Amino acid sequence: MMPNNTTRSSPAVADYQPEVLFLEEGVEEYPLAREVLSRLPEIPRREFQDISILTEQMRHSRYDVFGAGKKCLALSRFKGSFLKKCPGVSPGMVCCNYYVVNLSKNCIYDCSYCFLQDFLENNPMQMAYVNVEDLLRELEEVFARYPDRNFRVGTGELTDSLALDSIVPYTAYLLPFFNQQSNAVLELKTKSDQIANLLNHPDPTNVVVSWSVNPQAVIDLEEKGTPSLAQRFESAKACLDKGYRVGFHFDPIILIPGWEDAYRQLVNILCDSLPIAKVEWVSLGSFRYRPALKSIIKNRHPETRLFTSEHLPSKDGKFRYLRPLRNHAYETIRNYLKCRAEKLSIYLCMETREIWEGVTGKTPRSDEKLGQFFDL
Ligand code: SF4
Repeated sequence: MMPNNTTRSSPAVADYQPEVLFLEEGVEEYPLAREVLSRLPEIPRREFQDISILTEQMRHSRYDVFGAGKKCLALSRFKGSFLKKCPGVSPGMVCCNYYVVNLSKNCIYDCSYCFLQDFLENNPMQMAYVNVEDLLRELEEVFARYPDRNFRVGTGELTDSLALDSIVPYTAYLLPFFNQQSNAVLELKTKSDQIANLLNHPDPTNVVVSWSVNPQAVIDLEEKGTPSLAQRFESAKACLDKGYRVGFHFDPIILIPGWEDAYRQLVNILCDSLPIAKVEWVSLGSFRYRPALKSIIKNRHPETRLFTSEHLPSKDGKFRYLRPLRNHAYETIRNYLKCRAEKLSIYLCMETREIWEGVTGKTPRSDEKLGQFFDL
């Protein structure tokens, strides 16, 4: 049973269904596309040949192109290379040696701080690439070419890794593939409770599922349409029980009035809800944004409390809370976690070397357990 203060007041996007399904000519050849179509028999369909013409038409016919795009699911082929290095590799930032594959773009949730609002500002749809066989072929080649390197691959850069999994079941392809690898781990990053495919799959080998969490007060205000904190922890517990490795991202940490109590409570709920000794790691990252995102957030989420504190640009051009405040927040939350779980691995996400050293007293590579993780 979860404590009462983790229940939410605003509705989550349960059982998402798009209003329109856009199909690139020929995608029905792919088994995944046929699977999606069988799950959405009632949804109106429109075929297209050229995605750029379609997106151009849609951009001009709408207000809040990005928000409206969440209701239009497009199935297409991805024609480039899927695997790329995590964009956290930017000037002055410590890199956590992570690769991303973008099978999907946009997200059914609508968090006020989401960088996709700027990054995909004019993208008027929820895009799902259905040529997963091409991705698996590419991964197999790369993993075989570098047998001494360990790959940590995430699917949650431009989307939530699991939110659409009941409609577009990527995990049905990815899990069996990663189960067979000797030098690669899949990380599914999510706020979702869509874990049915994970629980039905017999083998959790080489799969880490990680949940982004925040105090319920922040979820209610800034993470529209997402499952509650209780639902996320229940899903994480079920995955742990099934044998999956599980991690948590306290990210973005948002310094609301009374944040110390809110995050202390979050740590307590986490440690009371799960066998914390079995959790792989917790990452900490504070709210950050590129300058162009601010006006988009203010327009799309007028009720947001994100800008009640001062932010300054860092070396990578993103705005963050002032360094002493970030340091204080990381130290405070890290102490809460260490008090409840002394051996827990905690790392900082998208932070400068100075902050790493200030908060943890070391860089990731000098920490034995995190060293394994970062030197992959
Ligand atoms: S869950 Fe992630 S990808 Fe989806 S809207 Fe929120 S921040 Fe963006």
